[in-house]
Amino acid sequence: MSKRALVIGGGLSGIKAALNLGQIGIETIIVERAEKLGGTFKKLGSTFPDGVDARTYLKKYLQTLKSLQNVKIFTKTQMKSVTKVEDGFEVILEPNGTSFKVEAIVVAIGYAPFDGSRIPNYGQGKIQNVIDSLELVQMLRNGQNLKRPSDETLPKSVTFITCVGSRDKKTNEYCSSFCCTYTVHLAKMVKEIDKKIDVTIMYMDMRTFSSYESLYQEARELGVKFLRGKPSMVFEELDTHNVKIQVENTITQEFVLHETDIAVLSIGAEPTEGSDELGKILGITKDEKTGFFAVSREDDVSALGQERIFIAGNASGPKDTQYSLAQASAAAMKAFIALGGVNSLK
Ligand SMILES: Cc1cc2nc3c(=O)[nH]c(=O)nc-3n(C[C@H](O)[C@H](O)[C@H](O)COP(=O)(O)OP(=O)(O)OC[C@H]3O[C@@H](n4cnc5c(N)ncnc54)[C@H](O)[C@@H]3O)c2cc1C
Ligand code: SF4
Repeated sequence: MSKRALVIGGGLSGIKAALNLGQIGIETIIVERAEKLGGTFKKLGSTFPDGVDARTYLKKYLQTLKSLQNVKIFTKTQMKSVTKVEDGFEVILEPNGTSFKVEAIVVAIGYAPFDGSRIPNYGQGKIQNVIDSLELVQMLRNGQNLKRPSDETLPKSVTFITCVGSRDKKTNEYCSSFCCTYTVHLAKMVKEIDKKIDVTIMYMDMRTFSSYESLYQEARELGVKFLRGKPSMVFEELDTHNVKIQVENTITQEFVLHETDIAVLSIGAEPTEGSDELGKILGITKDEKTGFFAVSREDDVSALGQERIFIAGNASGPKDTQYSLAQASAAAMKAFIALGGVNSLK
C-alpha cells in the first residue's frame, strides 16, 4: 500500500504543504476545521510585499490543489485521535469518524489574530472609531470603502497603534514579526486613497526587516508620520466621536493628546484555540516562551518530540506569507523524506 501524508490545517501554509506533497506524487489528506480553506489569508486584500490581492493567490493555489487526484480535502473536520504505530500514525477524524494510517504529518494550524478588546485602555468594542487592522483590511479590500464607523464619512485622519497584544508583559511578550510591515503597507494604502488624509503610526520600534525596509521608506515619502511611543489611554470625544490618544513621544519626551478620526489597532498573533489539545494528541512540544509549537533549530520545521511530525507556518510562531510558504515547502520535503523519499513513490 502506498504511503500517505496528513496535513492538519488548511490556511496558506497547509495548502502549500499539501500542494507540494501532492505534486511530488504523495497521497495526501488535508484536514481543516473551518468551512473553507484559506485561514486568515482568505480575509486579506492587497498584501505586502507586492500588493497582490490575497484572493488572487488563494484562487491560484486552490485551483491546483483541487486538480490533484491524490489530495483529499476534509473541511469542518478535526483530529479525534492520533495513535503512534511502528512506522506512522493511526488517525481518526471527527465528526465523521473516518480512520486511516499516515506515515508523516505536517501541522499547519496557524495562529489566532489577537483580540484588541482584551486591552481595555484602547477601547475596541466600546469606542466606535477604534477598529483593528483586520477590520481596516475589510474596508480597503471592498472597493477602497474607507469610512469612519460612526458616520460613514471618509476620515480626515487615521492613526495606527502598533504592538497590540505583542511585546507586552500583560499579553504576549514576543514580537509578532509581521505587524510593522502590514501597518506601513496599510498606511500607504490609506494615503493612496487620498493623500490629504493625515496618517500617523505610533510605534515602539519599526521592525520592517530585510527588503521590507523599502515599504517603510515609501510610507515616509507619501507623508505618513511616525511617532515613537506606546499609548497609555484612548478616549472618545463624545460630541464628534473623534478618538483621543494619550501618548508620550519618547523622542521629544513630550506628553501628547493626539486626536484622530479613526484609530487602528495593529494586532499581533497568538497560538490558536485548541493548539494545546492538539499538541497533546500528537505528543509534540510547545515553546515555553511563546506557546507556539517548538521546532528544531537545525531545519526550522521538525517538531521536537516526534520524528515524523513537521510544523509549517504560523503554528510555530508569527510569520509573514513568504516565510510561511518557504517553511511549508521545507516541511513537505521533510515529510517526503520521512516517507522514504523516492522509494515511497514505487
Ligand atoms: C491584519 C493582518 C494583515 C496581514 N497582512 C499580511 C500581508 O500583507 N502580507 C503577509 O505576508 N502576511 C500578512 N499577514 C500574515 C498572514 O496572515 C499569515 O502569514 C498567513 O495567513 C499564513 O498563515 P498560516 O497558514 O500559517 O496560518 P492560518 O492562516 O492561521 O491558517 C491556519 C489554518 O488551520 C486551521 N486550524 C486551526 N486549528 C486546527 C485544527 N485543530 N484542526 C484543523 N484545522 C485547524 C485554521 O482554521 C486555519 O484555516 C497579515 C496578518 C494580519 C493579522
Ligand atoms: S512586528 Fe512591529 S508591531 Fe508587530 S509586535 Fe513586532 S515591533 Fe510590534
